[in-house]
Amino acid sequence: MRDSFQRNIEYVRISITDLCNLRCRYCMPEAGVKKLRHGDVLTYEEILRVVRALAQLGIRKVRLTGGEPLLRPGIVDFVRRIKGVQGIEHVAMTTNGVLLSSMAGQLKEAGLDSVNVSVDTLREDAFVFLTRRALLPSVQEGLEALFSAGFADVKLNCVPIAGVNEEDIVQLADLARQYDVKVRFIELMPIGCAFEAGLHGIPMDEVRKRLSEEYGTLLPVERNSSLQGPAEYACISGFRGQVGFIDAMGHKFCHTCNRVRLTAEGFLKLCLYSGTGLDVRVLLRSGAEDGDLAKALARAIRRKPEAHSFLEESGGDVRDARYMYQVGG
Ligand code: SAM
Ligand code: SF4
Repeated sequence: MRDSFQRNIEYVRISITDLCNLRCRYCMPEAGVKKLRHGDVLTYEEILRVVRALAQLGIRKVRLTGGEPLLRPGIVDFVRRIKGVQGIEHVAMTTNGVLLSSMAGQLKEAGLDSVNVSVDTLREDAFVFLTRRALLPSVQEGLEALFSAGFADVKLNCVPIAGVNEEDIVQLADLARQYDVKVRFIELMPIGCAFEAGLHGIPMDEVRKRLSEEYGTLLPVERNSSLQGPAEYACISGFRGQVGFIDAMGHKFCHTCNRVRLTAEGFLKLCLYSGTGLDVRVLLRSGAEDGDLAKALARAIRRKPEAHSFLEESGGDVRDARYMYQVGG
């Protein structure tokens, strides 16, 4: 469906849990995490109802995220059921990869179309510093399992942070030379912990500069689908895969934004920045009929803000107080 700025909304990102087995400094506090109560998290049945209603409105792609989505019991069967919803063409997942080694094959068999693995460094000490957990070997095993399972569309996401993982930019990009993967760099957003810890992201122009100094010209790749998202991709001579850049802080892609988000407790978020949206859980649990649910979702989507206000001193919209692990990225 079209929102009030004529953008075609066709993609929903669903956080299925607020729990995580890592504690990335820019995303989740080490201590004092307020976990949702079990009964506050949408059940799989409830999420499926929302996905069916959204599919009727024109949503074609679903991404499962978290917290760490692979921690939620029953995830493989849930992927199969989402994949079976009429109108849903693509089911994707964003994961930290820690649990992938034992699950990649089953996820592929259940119909998962693509996987994004977040990996900010390949150095043990930097990984432990960034995630506060010594689990890099599990992530590396997870990546191997992903390739063995035959996933054709694998992306690695890295958030470059000044003074933390700068030297990993070239090393991570090098994976796209060795494998047919897209290695994407994402600008740090000043949300939750990243904001509180005073971490500074490295601007994408700087990341591009470092890569071209190392590898030569970055040849831009043309967009091939509206479902591709905000990343700009580039080819490098001799590389099997590609590198990508998500310049999150500029307003470059708000005018083409095609997505909404559903939090684990059932809040439909219309923009990553803004707190505006719809409490879908209340609707679901107060006996709304399918038709009423679809109408309420459509009304909410029409209110999607025109652009985020991360860069403004006081944007016209209200900044959401949720942390990234509560939203799903
Ligand atoms: N646990 C999964 C993972 O790490 O891939 C899924 C959830 S995580 C919140 C989704 C994505 O959000 C990750 O790629 C992570 O790097 C990114 N992220 C978290 N906080 C961020 C921030 N402040 N700025 C930019 N990206 C962030
Ligand atoms: Fe967990 Fe993902 Fe957040 Fe890291 S980025 S703490 S893995 S939810």
